[in-house]
Order: sequence, then C-alpha cells, then structure tokens
Amino acid sequence: MTDVHRRSIIVDGHCDSPYRMLRHNVHLDEHDTEAQLDLKSLRAGGITASFFAAYVPPFYAGRGAAAFAHRLITLIQEEARRNPEVLTYCTDAEGIRAAKRDDKHALLIGVEGGHAIEDSLDILRELYARGARYMTLTHVNTNNWCDSSGDAPRHNGLTDFGRDVVRAMNDLGMIVDISHVSDAAYYAVLETTRVPVVATHSSCRAICNHPRNMTDEMLRDLAQNRGVCMINFFSAFVNEQVAQVIMRAQKRPQRGANGPGENEEMPDDRTDWDSYLKWFGTLGCPVAKFDDVIDHIVHAATIAGVDHVGLGSDFDGVPALPDGLQTAAALPRITERLLARGFTEDEVLKVLGENFMRVFGDIERGAR
Ligand SMILES: [Zn+2]
Repeated sequence: MTDVHRRSIIVDGHCDSPYRMLRHNVHLDEHDTEAQLDLKSLRAGGITASFFAAYVPPFYAGRGAAAFAHRLITLIQEEARRNPEVLTYCTDAEGIRAAKRDDKHALLIGVEGGHAIEDSLDILRELYARGARYMTLTHVNTNNWCDSSGDAPRHNGLTDFGRDVVRAMNDLGMIVDISHVSDAAYYAVLETTRVPVVATHSSCRAICNHPRNMTDEMLRDLAQNRGVCMINFFSAFVNEQVAQVIMRAQKRPQRGANGPGENEEMPDDRTDWDSYLKWFGTLGCPVAKFDDVIDHIVHAATIAGVDHVGLGSDFDGVPALPDGLQTAAALPRITERLLARGFTEDEVLKVLGENFMRVFGDIERGAR
C-alpha cells in the first residue's frame, strides 16, 4: 500500500453489502463467497468511510417501503455495534475524520430509492433522524415524484412535490443523491437545490454509453454546482462492450419470468439474486479491465475537474466487476494506477475522499 493511500481519507459513496447480508443472513465479519465487501476487505482496502445502502427494492413501492428502509438501517447500525474495535457508526463529516484518527472504519447510511419515503416529508425526516445521510431520489423505478433513468418518464423530471423533497433534504443537511435519476430529473434537481449534490455511484456516458452514467454536459454542470460524481465500478457502467451486451439482452422480449428489468444493476425482490447472477452469466460479457475504472476517473477529472470526482464502488450490488477489482481489498491499486497515470498526490487525495468531504461539509453547513 502506498503512503498516500495510507494517509488518505478514503470514502466509498455506495455499497450494497447490507442487502447481501440480509439475503444471505450473514454478518460483515462472516465468510460469504459472494461478498465483494466484508470486514476483511474493508480493512485491506484502507477504506475510511463507507456508505452502506439501505436499499429498498422497487417491489416495496406502495408495499411497506419505509418499513423496509428502517429494517436495513437497523441492520447497518447493528453491524457497526458488533465490531466496535474496528467499526464506528457515524453521521457527519467530523465523524469520518475522527474515524481516520482512531484507525477505524466509519459506516454511514444512504437510503437508495425515493419510494422509501412513501410520498411523505415526515418519513423523509424520520429516515434522517435515524441516521440516513443521503437518499438516492430513485432506484431503477420512476416513483410518484421523480423520473428514473431505468424507467419510463412520468414527470418531465421532478414533480412539485419532488422539488419539495429536494428542498427538505437541503434543509436537513441530507445529501441529494442523483445517481439513478433521469437526465431531466437531474436538471430539475440542479435548478432546485441550494447546495451541492452528489452522484454516489455513477460513471461517464462519453466512454460507456449507458443511461445510468453522466454525460459530459452533466459533469460540467455538476462542477458548476460544486458537487461530486463518485465513479461506479460495475463492469456494465465502465466498459462499453459489457454495457452493449447487457442492454441488448434486457431489450429481448423473451427473457423469462426471472429476467431483470431495464438497466438494473440490482434485481428487486421478485427476481432473486441467484437467478439474476445465472442470467448475467449466460450473457457471455467480456471481462472489464481494471483501467476501465481509471479511465472514468481520468475522464471525469478532465471534464468536470479533479475537484469533482470520487469513488462509489457499488460493491455487493453488481454481478460483475473489472479484472483485479473483485473486492474492496483492491482499492490500494486504484491509488497506484492514478499515480502511474499522472495524478499528483494531492489530486489522488481529492479523488479518494477529500472532494466528498468538502461537499458533505458544504451540505451540512447549508442545513437550516
Ligand atoms: Zn444503485
């Protein structure tokens, strides 16, 4: 591990380990052959802070979505409590810095899927009160107030209530996560927010043409907003060939009852993960290269500026990762590759975590 990696605050914007732990009934410190992130790899990767997703499968929209979010929030908090020597549950930027000083790994909570609030600002505030520090406005489903990049648009972006949600999040000091939303929704959010926003796990559309990724224009506008785009490692979001294979397969009408929906990186509860993995395995996707991820970091830094790029692995939420990046333990190699590709140590520190820390601080100070 390089010295710069060791002293850096490293923030991972998004991982789906809580949903894996729930499905497999295992804890973070327990062996699971499918784990892309567990306690061991979290430590080996040198990750200071990881946002654990309280992911609410779209299936629960209108069927107890808030309760499901609460269930995962409890699970995340219990995981932190289970290993107090090495983990610390935290809810603010200062907590992340304290974790670094104490040589611990901070777990933070991000709700994934705006349907979790059941169209209620009170539920939004309850989730914040329980510790959630971001909410992804949609998952792959368009909800009653925000359009998703993975679903048919219904609102030309955001409804008036959707704009109220964004303002309420600004007031709380809760990060507005624009990963998964449609392009129109993204622009409606930028018009509405009074603080920077974050894409906790999105990559660049110019080099991998998938609707989950951000166009160059969106990246430039994110820089104007002073936000940050945290690069997703999923093979289908970083490698154009993989993206083409998976999108073609998803458009096929006869994909069987267990096939995943459009643009999913994560099946909902109607499609069990095992059959999703099996389906993905039948596609014969090429293996993405480690440097595909580095290419996205370099591209985002070139287009938006190096102050607006971060890392959002999506570990445990995706069926395929690039060669050499199978688990969180591989993170030190990202630092090595960035240095090899000409990033200065200061620039590496920014990408690994300082950019996110700046934005998180701005959002906290913007609370009313
Ligand atoms: Zn996601």
